[in-house]
Amino acid sequence: MTPAAYVKLNLDALRHNLNVARRHAPDSKVMAVIKANAYGHGLLRVAERLTDADGFAVARVDEGIRLRQAGISQRIAVMEGFTCSEELNDLINFGLDPLIHSFGQLDIIDRKSGSAGIDAWLKIDTGMNRLGFSVDEVDKVHQRLISSSLIKKPVGFITHLANADVRSDSMTLKQIDLFNKTLSGFSGPRSIANSAGILGWREALTDWVRPGIMLYGISPFPESTGGDFDLKPVMGLHSRLIAVKSVRQGETVGYGGSWVCDRPITMGVVAIGYGDGYPRQAKSGTPVLVNGKRVPMIGRVSMDMITVDLSGQDDAKPGDPVTLWGGGLPIEEVAFWSETIPYTLVCGITQRVQIVEE
Ligand SMILES: *Cc1c(COP(=O)(O)O)cnc(C)c1O
Repeated sequence: MTPAAYVKLNLDALRHNLNVARRHAPDSKVMAVIKANAYGHGLLRVAERLTDADGFAVARVDEGIRLRQAGISQRIAVMEGFTCSEELNDLINFGLDPLIHSFGQLDIIDRKSGSAGIDAWLKIDTGMNRLGFSVDEVDKVHQRLISSSLIKKPVGFITHLANADVRSDSMTLKQIDLFNKTLSGFSGPRSIANSAGILGWREALTDWVRPGIMLYGISPFPESTGGDFDLKPVMGLHSRLIAVKSVRQGETVGYGGSWVCDRPITMGVVAIGYGDGYPRQAKSGTPVLVNGKRVPMIGRVSMDMITVDLSGQDDAKPGDPVTLWGGGLPIEEVAFWSETIPYTLVCGITQRVQIVEE
């Protein structure tokens, strides 16, 4: 018997989705973004499937080390770089490419002797205002980098788009423009586009693209689903009914009694809750598939259970299969009903949930 709550992964879809990225950016190399345990899908599992990627990107040094220790040989960019000389040593020893975004990092590099030779990306802040040097610091920073024996030439240039998922927002073109203008006299590989940049902004396609969410089959745009871009979902979240009962008119269901029954219904209890990573903010009405058919969630999400209105499915019984997302129920829809983004849903799957590979 399958476990009560489980995630089913269609790993073949990863390669398909990588090819979709390539189709949109045929002249770019692809750095597959697999930070945060590959968006909850499993760091090594995903890296081992994406053998066609030209490189990988992770957020932290320890994520890069895990990839190297598992024998991954492509270039690996570490997007948060390093904050101390021990981390820089790790980057050197494991052959990881840091993003350089602060003067503190330059000082650490200067204090290190030797010529181990690491590839580095100079991170430019073009409007995100998170990590990166301002455009007027780029000249000076680049000088310092290329004069270090530790850093291989040429140095790469990277920036991050703040609002590429909003197609009407002119900020994206402004960021791209600023990046290009700033770098007009420089040579070295460039990288701008995340998934939204790849799917929505041709101007963002440069030497390297950095798809994350789209690799997992999910749309980066709030108004669409992955299917609109020929993307295939990788993750499905599944469970089963564990109880079926009648609820009378006027009774309430669940914590807080927030849901009031306005007519007699058959109700189902599903073994999934926020303890599994199902979003607690999911509102009454959030679609759930029972036996492949849509029913609305009712009442509040508990730690281990949710309740659904089985009206129209009166023959449903304990043990029947339930899908929370995937297979006909786009995760984007569940995110919408939960007032969050699909990124948080896939990242939020907890240890308790068993992983089944298709
Ligand atoms: C996470 C991240 C990406 C990938 O973003 P998606 O929206 O998931 O495609 C790309 N670049 C940077 C710097 C990131 O932090």
